[in-house]
Amino acid sequence: MKQFDKEHILHPYAPSTPLADMELVVSASGVYLELDTGAKIIDGMSSWWSVIHGYNVPQLNTAATEQLSKMSHVMFGGLTHEPAIKLGQTLLEITDKSLEYIFFSDSGSVSVEVALKMAFQYWNSQENKFKSKILAFSKGYHGDTLGAMSVCDPITGMHSAFEDVLHKNIFAEAPMCMFGDEWDEKYILDFKTKLQENHTQIAAVILEPIVQGAGGMRIYSPELLKRVKELCTEYDVLLILDEIATGFGRTGKLFAYEYANIAPDILCVGKALTGGYMSLAATLTSKKVMQGVESGGNVLMHGPTFMANPLACAVANASLELLLNSPWQQRVQKIENQLRQELTKCESLEIVKEVRILGAIGVVELNVEIDLAVMTPAFIEKGVWVRPFLNLVYIMPPYIISEDELSHLTHAIYEVLEEFKSIK
Ligand SMILES: *Cc1c(COP(=O)(O)O)cnc(C)c1O
Repeated sequence: MKQFDKEHILHPYAPSTPLADMELVVSASGVYLELDTGAKIIDGMSSWWSVIHGYNVPQLNTAATEQLSKMSHVMFGGLTHEPAIKLGQTLLEITDKSLEYIFFSDSGSVSVEVALKMAFQYWNSQENKFKSKILAFSKGYHGDTLGAMSVCDPITGMHSAFEDVLHKNIFAEAPMCMFGDEWDEKYILDFKTKLQENHTQIAAVILEPIVQGAGGMRIYSPELLKRVKELCTEYDVLLILDEIATGFGRTGKLFAYEYANIAPDILCVGKALTGGYMSLAATLTSKKVMQGVESGGNVLMHGPTFMANPLACAVANASLELLLNSPWQQRVQKIENQLRQELTKCESLEIVKEVRILGAIGVVELNVEIDLAVMTPAFIEKGVWVRPFLNLVYIMPPYIISEDELSHLTHAIYEVLEEFKSIK
């Protein structure tokens, strides 16, 4: 089986003929992944932010099975169903009250495409003038489809490889005022200048609130987000917040924008929406935006085949119920406290540049690039699943991780990094 995988199946950002075999997962439960070797390893990644309740959760299994016996899918054009309606109600309840409309799609990247289209159509419909640019931030990440890629960091987003096909957007300097740093107006200057000079062409600003994820795992000051919102209002530009990674409690707030007490015009959610059971995302927006989109008799031009898939919506409903009825704030706070106590120790290692922590997110930035071929087996040997990128070792464990399991994870990271020099 592994041989076929190696020869024919492509994996994320990986060569078609990988040097090493993939690890084969046969089952997963709680925070553990079980490999074909029999090894049980702790998943520090929550399968890329999504598995917040851990694996094989009875409530989510039940929700899926019950929905399966009713209908697993039905088209959304001209039809609707209870799982989507319930999910819409919950999402509107837990997000800012200015958000009134929801567009369900199948993945985070698509929810970003929808957000961008909303913004472009908003201006195009009302003013008969196409505002064609998005102002994004360096070190940002918003997904892998072409539109989403065009607002990702130009370097880590590999814009050079797509030079002629990618929409050209405008980039502001990455947020430089880190979480907890004292605010200074100099931190917003570059963004402000770009907005001032180009606002007549800019349809929207897009950014990940408080935590820039896959573009660099950077945690920045809520003050910056506040100033961005003020300037968007001042220059009459829409604000798109991408909470696909940060949403549903990960940073210690249900949504990271709550740190800045602001509201977006358009909000993208995904990843943890179904507790990591299946792919589902949503784009939320306000009455103002939808009225703009629809002026002149237009409609939002998007409609995926699997829009609001009932199975995914039913599991999302169960996942949100589980989350909202759980002491998630205390759990995330407890993880944060423990990460501060244990992961911060990595700063004593020579190869470590900095440790950053917020909520249930821990990041160890190294002075050196990571060699996955060396580090992955070393982590597995120690019983953990950690998937670094560039020079970043980072974890965002399921909220249900126990104190002992988290200690196991942080110690494994310390030990692997300590050995890294010698095994390199
Ligand atoms: C993962 C991610 C996306 C893309 O979501 P997919 O479901 O992988 O398409 C977009 N934005 C952010 C912030 C993400 O973390």
